Amino acid sequence: MVRTISLNTKLVTGCMLMLAFSLMLSASLLFMYGNYYLRTSRDVMLLTMFKQVLVAASDISSERSPINILLGLEPETESDARRELQTLRQASNAALDMITQPVTDGVSLSQDQDLVAAIDRVRKALVIGRADIDALIALPRAQRSADKIMQGMRDMFLAADLVRPIAVGAIAKISAEDESLAGPAMTAQMLGELRDYSGRLIAQMIPFVSTRVPLPDAFVFDLVRTRERILEVWQLAGRQGGLYAGDRHLGILRQQINARFFGQGLQIIDRAATTGRMTGAFGISAEELGERYLPTLEPIEQLRTGFLDAALNKVSEERFSALIWLVAMSITAGLLIAATSVLIVAGRYYVLQPLMMASDHIVNLSNGEAIGELVSPTNSREMLRLFDALEGLRIILSEREQHTERLKVLSETDGLTGLINRRLFDRIGHGDPEFDEMSTDVSVIMMDLDRFKGINDTYGHLAGDQVLKHAAAIVQRVCRRSDLAARYGGEEISIIVFEPDEWVAMNVAERIRAELEAKPVITPDGRRISVTASFGVAHGKRAGANWLTMVKAADAALYEAKASGRNRVCRAGGALIGANKSVA
Ligand code: GH3
Ligand code: MG
Ligand code: MG
Repeated sequence: MVRTISLNTKLVTGCMLMLAFSLMLSASLLFMYGNYYLRTSRDVMLLTMFKQVLVAASDISSERSPINILLGLEPETESDARRELQTLRQASNAALDMITQPVTDGVSLSQDQDLVAAIDRVRKALVIGRADIDALIALPRAQRSADKIMQGMRDMFLAADLVRPIAVGAIAKISAEDESLAGPAMTAQMLGELRDYSGRLIAQMIPFVSTRVPLPDAFVFDLVRTRERILEVWQLAGRQGGLYAGDRHLGILRQQINARFFGQGLQIIDRAATTGRMTGAFGISAEELGERYLPTLEPIEQLRTGFLDAALNKVSEERFSALIWLVAMSITAGLLIAATSVLIVAGRYYVLQPLMMASDHIVNLSNGEAIGELVSPTNSREMLRLFDALEGLRIILSEREQHTERLKVLSETDGLTGLINRRLFDRIGHGDPEFDEMSTDVSVIMMDLDRFKGINDTYGHLAGDQVLKHAAAIVQRVCRRSDLAARYGGEEISIIVFEPDEWVAMNVAERIRAELEAKPVITPDGRRISVTASFGVAHGKRAGANWLTMVKAADAALYEAKASGRNRVCRAGGALIGANKSVA
């Protein structure tokens, strides 16, 4: 047997697959854009952290600026530089604290033990360096030796040096996270170094300038090295010039560094070093040197900050666009799943269920089952058409059935008397299976109107017809519902009485005979026609040869009744009954 799968199963399976694919598609889209968003969020966090490290490094470097000035002053001299020093120290403390503070979306690096330990080392170095510097500037100027100053400055450099590995570690993390950020991070780091070295250049000079000690050869050598390093770093940073090349602000800052720092700042140091190298007469005070040189470092600081901000902006923009995509994809995914679900439900409600209903109706119609009016369960145009057509079909079929029923009745009925006709009578008699539920043990009455030709001759055929109808009406009235009366021939009527006892049939025949005799026919023109009939009754079995035998026997009895004077009932094989002439 061919295995069949229902349309419903197929549709449900298809829909489930469609839903599964939609879910898969949505999940992968969300996964992709979710990851993109997380990555850019981490980028923002790491860059912010890195920026904070560079800010801290720069703040620590800046702390040295007022020291340069204070070293040229007596301890009791009032100066803005003292207040500035306190402010800058607080700023670098705060900057160090900020490195591990939550940066974006509550993500914090305070759990990074290595980072926390490295920052602690910077703090400790600062405590030592600041204590040295405080002791120094508390001394009268004359007691501040170049050695002591150098020692204090070295301690401060150490703190700055300890920030470098933190920055390098941050660059490593950033590069591992997103290669494209390695360039900007490294450039920012180099610019930070440039700022630091430039600061060291003057810090190295100040001890000699403030004490007017000629520069030792070893120191000049150091100075030249620092100077070379500065140029090297600037060249290296310049190689990354392609980065954010279109950024006008960064371009201007680059020009400013070239003009102010390399054009003016370095020359101030060079000139002081050249004049003071041999004699210790630098031609400029420490304070003045600081005030003229330090401002030329500003564009370096600004370029570094600007560079990092540009990178941070770019990443933040990416992060924002990742967020937009994530939201858009979530909405799209939601809509996709919703649309699929709606399609499934609507498909079942508007298409499958009505079609199944229609199919059931068609099956019922084809089986000839009676069904009520067919109405579309939905008001979609196609279904309305389908159900209208089905309803039309149903009406046609039911009309045809009524029609067939009428034709059947007509084909089995005698038009004049309304009795069943000979054809149906014979079918019943011969045992047509259609009448199987009727008893086979029956009696047959054969009835023939007496001298009917004479009635026709005397009163005319129409009156004869009226007599025939009259006789049939009496037969119908006397017979029970279970008896079957048929117009057997011209003026002959046959009756099947479904009773095993033939005397019941004899009784029926006698009652018909008596009533016919008693009730004459009144013609429309008022004439009375008396009519009688003769009857032959036989008993036997319906179906097959028995039937013919029984009919013949009834015929013979009828002949007997006619022969013995008419208007009587004669039983096959004997009994004869009639008005005043009944014979048992
Ligand atoms: P009997 O007593 O021997 O039966 O005499 P009868 O005159 O009845 O004789 P028979 O049975 O041979 O005559 C039947 C007549 O019935 C012949 C025919 O003219 C008439 N007849 C047959 N069918 C019809 C009919 O439908 N209408 C009319 N008016 N007469 C019919
Ligand atoms: Mg006859
Ligand atoms: Mg007759």
